Amino acid sequence: MQSLQARPLKEILAAMTSKSAEDATLVTKAYALSEEAHKDQKRYSGDSYFIHPAEVAFYLSEAGMDAHAISAGLLHDTIEDAGISAKRIEEDFGLEVLHLVEGVTKLGALRYRGLERHTESLRKLFAATAKDIRVLIIKLMDRLHNARTLEHVPKIEKRSRIALETLEIYAPIADRLGMSVLKQELEDAAFPHAFPKEYEKTRELLKERRTENEKRLEKTEHDMKRELGEAGIRNFRAEARMKGVYSMYRKLERKNWDMTKIYDILALRVIFPTVADCYSALGVIHAHWRPVPGKIKDYIAFPKPNGYQSIHTTVYTGDGGALEMQLRTEAMHQEALYGIASHLTYKERQLGTKSTRSSLEWIRQFFPGGTKAPVADLADKGGVPTWVKDLAHAHDAESQEYLDTLKTDFFSHRVFVFTPKGDVIDLPMEATPIDFAYAVHSDLGNTMSGARVNGKMVALDTSLRNGDMVEIVTKPSGHPSRKWHDIAKTNMAKKHIRAALAAASKKAR
Ligand code: MN
Repeated sequence: MQSLQARPLKEILAAMTSKSAEDATLVTKAYALSEEAHKDQKRYSGDSYFIHPAEVAFYLSEAGMDAHAISAGLLHDTIEDAGISAKRIEEDFGLEVLHLVEGVTKLGALRYRGLERHTESLRKLFAATAKDIRVLIIKLMDRLHNARTLEHVPKIEKRSRIALETLEIYAPIADRLGMSVLKQELEDAAFPHAFPKEYEKTRELLKERRTENEKRLEKTEHDMKRELGEAGIRNFRAEARMKGVYSMYRKLERKNWDMTKIYDILALRVIFPTVADCYSALGVIHAHWRPVPGKIKDYIAFPKPNGYQSIHTTVYTGDGGALEMQLRTEAMHQEALYGIASHLTYKERQLGTKSTRSSLEWIRQFFPGGTKAPVADLADKGGVPTWVKDLAHAHDAESQEYLDTLKTDFFSHRVFVFTPKGDVIDLPMEATPIDFAYAVHSDLGNTMSGARVNGKMVALDTSLRNGDMVEIVTKPSGHPSRKWHDIAKTNMAKKHIRAALAAASKKAR
C-alpha cells in the first residue's frame, strides 16, 4: 500500500478562523514539534504516526476552533506516546495549551466496558474530567480520526470495542454539544466495525433507493427555486442533505425495516438570510406542494434540547413519493453543523445574531434538580418566547456567560472514581472509601478491612477525588462499625451499615 503523507501545515492554517500572525506562529511551532516528536513512530497502517495529530488539528481548524486548541490537537499524543515533557510544552506553548494536552491525555485512560449501567456515568465522567469543553472537542476529533482508520487495527476485538465505544459514548457527546456533522461522521465511521451485518443490509437498501431519491430531489429543487423566485424570494441557497447510514439503520429498526416509511433519506436544505424568509418560504412551499400531515416541525420557535433550530416539513412531490425540506438561517446552519464549536470562536466572530439560550439545555440535562446550574434562569427565561423575541434577546453578554459556565466545573458536587477494572462509580462530593465499597456491592462493604487509593493504603474517612482508582481490601472477619456509619456520606452505605449492625447485635444477644 502506498504510504500517505501528513496533512500539510498550510492547509491547517488556511482552514483557521483566525488570521492573526501570532496564532499562525503558535500552530506552526506545534506542527514542527509534533512532527519531530513522532518521527520514528508508525500507525497500525504502517504510515507515519504524525499523520494522526496533523489530521486531528485539521479537523479542529475546520470546526472553527482557536489556535490553542489546534496546537493542543497537534501535541495531544506527544506527552504520553513521544516522551515530550509537560515542562517543555508549558515553556514553548504556555499553560493553556499544556492544560488542554493533559486533559486529552487523561481522557485517554478511560475504557468502555459495554455495561449499560456504566455508559451514562462514563459520559458524565468525560464531561467532568474535561473542565474545559475544548478538551472534549479535541478528544472527539482524535476519536474521529481513529474511527476512520479502524480497518488497520489488527485485533478484531479491539476494533469492535473502539467502534462500540464511539457509538455509545463519543457520538452522543457530539450530539449533546450540538455538533451534528461530527456526530454523523463518528457514527458512520464506527458502524461498519461495530455491526458489520446490519451495516451491509442498510447500505444495500439505500443503494436500491438512491437513483429514485436523487431524481426526486433534483426536480423538487428546480421547482422550488422557481416558485420562491416568483414569490420574490431570491436570496437563498439550497443543498442536499444525505442521512447518515447509522442513523438510517436506527430509524429502520424503529420502522420494522419498512423503507417506504422513511421520508428523509435525502432532504433538501434551504438557507435564507432571515427568520422571516424561512416562514415566507414555508408558505410558498405549502401552497405549491401538499404537506404530509404531522410532519411539519417548527424547531425555530421550539428548538431541540441540543439547540438545533430549523423548520422541517415533508411534502408530497406528485410522483408518489415525498421529500423533507429544512428551512433555516445561515446562523442556524452554522450552529447545526458545528454546535458548540461555533460559539467557541466568539473572539473572532460576531455573535450578535446567534441564539445561545437553547444550547443550555445540554447542561441542564446533567442537573435533574437544576438548582445549582448557574444557567437555569437563563434557560428558563421567557418560557416559550416568539422567534422574534428569541433572536433579539441573544446577545454577547449571554454568550459570554454561557462560555464561562461551560469552562467551570459543573460537576463540583459529584466525584467520579474507578474500580481497579476501570468501571466508573459516581459518588457525591466528599464520599469516602466506605461509600465506594457499598456502591459497588453490600458484601464488599460488609467485609471491608481497608482501602487503597491510587495504590496507597488510606484511612477510611479519606475524601475521594475525581479520577481516583479505589481498591477495597477485605477479610472474612471484617465488619462495619458505628464509626463507619458516621463517616459514610451516602444513604445507601448508611442503610447497609445499620442493617449489618442490627443483624450483628441480634446475633450477640
Ligand atoms: Mn490520538
